[in-house]
Amino acid sequence: MKVPLSSLSLSALERTYAFEAIETGWISGTGSFIRAFEEELARRIERRHVVAVSSGTTAVELALLGLGIGAGDEVVVPALTFVAPAAMVRAVGATPVFADLDPATWTLDPAHVGRLITERTRAILTVDVLGHPCDYDRLAAFGLPIVEDAAQAHGARYKGRAAGSFGAVSTLSFHANKTIATGEGGCVGTDDEALHERMRLIANHGMTPERPYWHPVLGRNFRMTNVTAAIGLGQVQRWDELVEARRAVAAAYDERLRDLPLTRRPVAPWATEACWLYTVSHPHRARLLDELRGAGIDARAIWTDLPSLPPYRPFVREECPVARRVSETSMWLPTWSFMEEETIDRVAGALNSVLKGIAEPAGT
Ligand SMILES: *Cc1c(COP(=O)(O)O)cnc(C)c1O
Repeated sequence: MKVPLSSLSLSALERTYAFEAIETGWISGTGSFIRAFEEELARRIERRHVVAVSSGTTAVELALLGLGIGAGDEVVVPALTFVAPAAMVRAVGATPVFADLDPATWTLDPAHVGRLITERTRAILTVDVLGHPCDYDRLAAFGLPIVEDAAQAHGARYKGRAAGSFGAVSTLSFHANKTIATGEGGCVGTDDEALHERMRLIANHGMTPERPYWHPVLGRNFRMTNVTAAIGLGQVQRWDELVEARRAVAAAYDERLRDLPLTRRPVAPWATEACWLYTVSHPHRARLLDELRGAGIDARAIWTDLPSLPPYRPFVREECPVARRVSETSMWLPTWSFMEEETIDRVAGALNSVLKGIAEPAGT
């Protein structure tokens, strides 16, 4: 049996709600499950307002549009993350400015961010990379709007506050491989009433709710469907269960891999990590991945650092050596909520035997 990189946990609750949404005939971007999902999410990410949207990517685009960011503006983004936040900075016509990671957190290095700020900087796009919150006190001190991309950080905390509660706007993704999953889906959260109204307007063709086919602003269609929100409501009602189950998997990996020559993703003392994908580093990553793949285990190399990707090369201002090093040496181990003990044992066992082989020089 193959071990996938990730897997879903969908319960009877999600099935019941989704079926109910279909039976009512409300299957597009209007319906009672959308509001219910938004309200439950707002509670979880400690926000006054949440707008559910079609993906984590459109959520970032909506956040940037809501803040009025566009051509001529610069947005600081981390040099290592999933590509979507940087892509959306380009999509609205702004310039991504890549900041390196702090080696102690693998999130934005506030000192490097400080050196990159110019009079054109309009926002800092903070990604809670792999479920670890950024150092928000230090980043907020720059006095710029923050867009928190918490797509990988459902259930993480910074000094006790929920990931998704920071900055002018925060975004989540509910892609099938995220901790809370609807298949495709996302949301924006804010405490600012006017910004909330603006984002709701833009997400729905820029059309005022009071007057049909009156579009005071340029809009998009970023709506989430009621069926998707029904699945989401079931998932979000299981938030603690799903988050804690992943923490238990991380703890099980920690215990089994403790004595192996692998470097685990670091965690700052002020951070409560939410394990999205369990991540380790090793100088012989390619060999480890090959052998794990041979054993039917879908471990994967982490993302390529964004400054190395063709569409972003023209925007590279300064080298980001930490992001480069993490990108070249790190890998994800299979991780999902309720991953079975035997499966964790199997992955740890395979790593153990590969690493033994690496430790013994050939020919002895
Ligand atoms: C997954 C992810 C996204 C994109 O979410 P989709 O729902 O797949 O569009 C955006 N940002 C980060 C940091 C992500 O991990």
